[in-house]
Amino acid sequence: MWEAVGNSSPGTTMLVFDRVTTLKQHLRKLERQGLRIGFVPTMGALHDGHLSLIAQARARAEVVVASVFVNPKQFGPTEDLARYPRDLEGDRSKLASAGCDVLFVPSVEEMYPPGFQTEVEVTQASQGLCGAARPQHFKGVTTVVLRLFSIVHPHVAVFGEKDYQQLTVLRTMARDLGLDVEVIGAPLVREPDGLAMSSRNVYLSPEDRQRALALSRGLRQAEARFAAGERRGAALVDAAQAELSQVGLTAEYLELRDAENLEPRAEARGPVVLLVACRVGATRLLDNVIMGRVSS
Ligand code: AMP
Repeated sequence: MWEAVGNSSPGTTMLVFDRVTTLKQHLRKLERQGLRIGFVPTMGALHDGHLSLIAQARARAEVVVASVFVNPKQFGPTEDLARYPRDLEGDRSKLASAGCDVLFVPSVEEMYPPGFQTEVEVTQASQGLCGAARPQHFKGVTTVVLRLFSIVHPHVAVFGEKDYQQLTVLRTMARDLGLDVEVIGAPLVREPDGLAMSSRNVYLSPEDRQRALALSRGLRQAEARFAAGERRGAALVDAAQAELSQVGLTAEYLELRDAENLEPRAEARGPVVLLVACRVGATRLLDNVIMGRVSS
């Protein structure tokens, strides 16, 4: 089944598919016309961070495909799968206005038909950081993204640096398997007060929303120390830690890593990333800052 949804640009429409076979037929036709396909996978509840990925895909491809699929395989048994925010109507109109051409909204059965048993795992980059608290998470991400890539055949796929470990894991998968897709990392988009945009921010109470600002404030402090010449990893971590402590938050992790391969770094030499995960109330938030990158 597919349907057309009005798009803000006159004379254009966004097509919405919920079946793999019909989406494949449509995209293979475009592929035969030699059109470049850009792809943005999401779990919906879209915000401006997601829409920035659509803009990045738009700049690099003639056809922009987005997916909205809350992937059960990347949630642990005690995580928020059942209450993950869903707003398909809102997502459709945001994507159409952002210039998305094709939206794929499969059911769980469509993505994982009975008998589905294949898993894809990137063994090293998935360890530590989020992989420590969420042991099956990245296997769920790589499995769904490879399945989506095999349906969409994108020339370019855009993922946010907001989920920096995820981006690294997916780059590694594409490299190791020799996938013909260019994986692009898009800059982290923040709220005006600094909070990293996330679909999960809606869970925060007004008080926790205020406390959550300590994450981005801490990372900014570390960045300022780096800009002033500090290169000791421990000092950069301490600068961020001080802001968290002030509002009584304890990080699940707060670590300096190599920005390319995520190996631990004691010194900020070459491109590095300071990554934090922290529970604020019941909500687990991620943030990071990249330092020493030539292009940033
Ligand atoms: P999600 O729907 O949370 O799975 O995210 C879908 C894509 O959007 C992923 O590639 C995320 O990294 C990206 N994304 C989410 N939040 C942001 C943000 N604040 N800035 C940039 N990209 C983001």
